[in-house]
Amino acid sequence: MNTEQYLDELRSVVNIDCGTQTVAGVACVADRFATWYQQAGWHTERVNLGERVGPGMFVTNHADAEQFDVLLVGHMDTVFPEGTAAERPMTVQDGRVYGPGVSDMKSGLLNILWALRSLSPAEKERLKIAVAMNPDEETGSVFSHQWIGELAKRSAVVLVCEAARADGSLVKARKGMARYRLDFRGVAAHAGNDPHRGRSAINALAQTIVELNGLADAEAGTTLNFGVIQGGDAANIVADKAHAILDLRFWNNEEYQRVHQSLSQFCSTHLLADISIQLLQEAHTPAMAPSRDTEKLMQLVEDVGEQEGIAIHWQAVGGGSDANHTAALGVPSLDGFGPIGAGFHSPAEYLELDSIAPRIRLLKQVIVRLGQ
Ligand SMILES: [Zn+2]
Repeated sequence: MNTEQYLDELRSVVNIDCGTQTVAGVACVADRFATWYQQAGWHTERVNLGERVGPGMFVTNHADAEQFDVLLVGHMDTVFPEGTAAERPMTVQDGRVYGPGVSDMKSGLLNILWALRSLSPAEKERLKIAVAMNPDEETGSVFSHQWIGELAKRSAVVLVCEAARADGSLVKARKGMARYRLDFRGVAAHAGNDPHRGRSAINALAQTIVELNGLADAEAGTTLNFGVIQGGDAANIVADKAHAILDLRFWNNEEYQRVHQSLSQFCSTHLLADISIQLLQEAHTPAMAPSRDTEKLMQLVEDVGEQEGIAIHWQAVGGGSDANHTAALGVPSLDGFGPIGAGFHSPAEYLELDSIAPRIRLLKQVIVRLGQ
């Protein structure tokens, strides 16, 4: 493998500011990949996902295919603000590569490209492959998850190429997430003259938090976190307004249903006279839980690992990715097919240089086995 060429290509996309909001930068990354794929004889299509995010980039070797053997997914955006690329451009030191988005996930995108470049003409003819590069994963793929979902439904399996974990593990499960806002309305009154006329929204909020935390289930891995609370205007006023933001995480979607129902019921039945609670769901990402078909796909990956001399370990991780959405559609989905890295979303982010070539080989061989 020509490591110099890989690093040159990596540098040229890491050194572009492409936070989700930096739409022009994301478009620039999309164009660069499109050029490389075209040079390798692949069909590319820029996908308009609205003005608020950059374009998506669709790549395939069979432009008229109805069904694909595999959909490869990766995102082009990072979490970093404009100016980060100039502040700390890509560097290589002691076997590690540093820079914004170097492992989350420019190298994942590049590993897809390199794996596909290495396919023989016969393999390219036999396999129907789709690649979806999206511009907004870091903000929840709000504008791209429908597009990716449509492609996933036309694909036998989905491989998301976020970085492998620091110990080399791939990802078989990811927690789901839901976010809620609870608005409490009470009755304001003077705290000295007539407190009995007041109904404190803050007291209701405090009681609610204690009670709702009881919905957590440590054994099942279901957690609730009231990460934000706000309310009241002054110490001498009984507060008529308060609100809380709740973050819910779960390994399986039945647990989500359980908590969601209890929460809805709790908020719709009045806790105290003259107090109302309005529940608003702000976000929901389903859990990525391995199905029977996913387990078959894991077995295939393990077989390839054995053949290539790469130890395969699996992890279940708390954070979500685009694999949560595709797995929820019932399409077997696995994640972590990029090279090894860690320290994401921070200046400590790194990529393990030695892991690039083996992980390209692993990805390529898994793809080759899929169509058989
Ligand atoms: Zn990522």
